[in-house]
Amino acid sequence: MISLVVPAYNEEAGIEELYRRVCSAAPAWNDDWELLVVDDGSSDRTLEILERLATTDARLKVVALSRNFGHQPAVSAGLQHASGSIVCVLDADLQDPPEALLPFIQKVRDGMDVVYAIRTHRKEGPFKRMAYHVYYRLLKRLATLDIPLDAGDFCVMRGEVVQAINQLPERNRFIRGLRTWVGYQQTGLAYERAARYAGEPKYTLRSLFKLASDGIINFSYRPLQAIMLLGFMVGVAAIAMGLIFLAQYIWDFPIMGYKPREARGWTSLILVLLFSSAVQLFCIGILGEYIGRLFEETKRRPIYLVKRRIGVGKPEELTGT
Ligand code: UDP
Ligand code: MG
Repeated sequence: MISLVVPAYNEEAGIEELYRRVCSAAPAWNDDWELLVVDDGSSDRTLEILERLATTDARLKVVALSRNFGHQPAVSAGLQHASGSIVCVLDADLQDPPEALLPFIQKVRDGMDVVYAIRTHRKEGPFKRMAYHVYYRLLKRLATLDIPLDAGDFCVMRGEVVQAINQLPERNRFIRGLRTWVGYQQTGLAYERAARYAGEPKYTLRSLFKLASDGIINFSYRPLQAIMLLGFMVGVAAIAMGLIFLAQYIWDFPIMGYKPREARGWTSLILVLLFSSAVQLFCIGILGEYIGRLFEETKRRPIYLVKRRIGVGKPEELTGT
């Protein structure tokens, strides 16, 4: 069976059209299907429309969240309720048209585990386009993982991969990162992202920023490492400067026409200052390393995932799954 996971927040203007478009695109897939819409606490008639449609069609399934939790939590809820052996994630606004799914499904049937969509053209304004462009490149440089460029959440996955993602216990979920993290055979397929069918974008600038920082912070250690490196570098510089000022005091030579013995107390003062700041910066660097590790541990991701076992069974004590 094919599951279509669709998060919807205040999409009353387009949700029925989505259902119709899925119904008309579905025969090409040659399989049973379910359309699993996660209503993310909509305050408009979205849920009402879904309830009405669901009474006449058992293939439409609805999970209604108790309030607006955001796009990524809504997708997570959908992935946990999907039962298909092939799972597609798409937006409710028809920016990822159901008709475009066929080649993705085909690739999964041919053996791929994840086929994600690479956006070639965006229909957003130039500012947003540029922000996305810069962000994805920044993420690629910072992330310790090779998260593909310009790939959104629109994708088709094999059921096993969805189960692997569902098992990851971290709470700030950046789905496209987790999807990359679980591994398996992944490939991208280019597609042209359509304009929104109806309504306004539901992502606010703030929620986009949260998404962007989740992406970088959950998948990168580099900002912390940069602070550590800076701390050590400045610490070493502080010690070197301290030695120079000490030598200057002992042998009484001028630096830029200035002799420390003429201003009593200056050398001892600057030495104390440099020494204490060097100690602090070193210590912050060490703390950074521990915090980074604590963070890795609190995410509680498995250490590894096994794709296949040949000749050995599952070990009793599981360290990975
Ligand atoms: N969405 C959601 N909860 C939210 C915000 C968005 O479920 O808090 C859904 C929304 O209904 C849509 C999808 O997530 O189906 C993508 O949202 P949007 O179109 O605003 O994002 P964009 O296409 O601009 O990235
Ligand atoms: Mg959209």
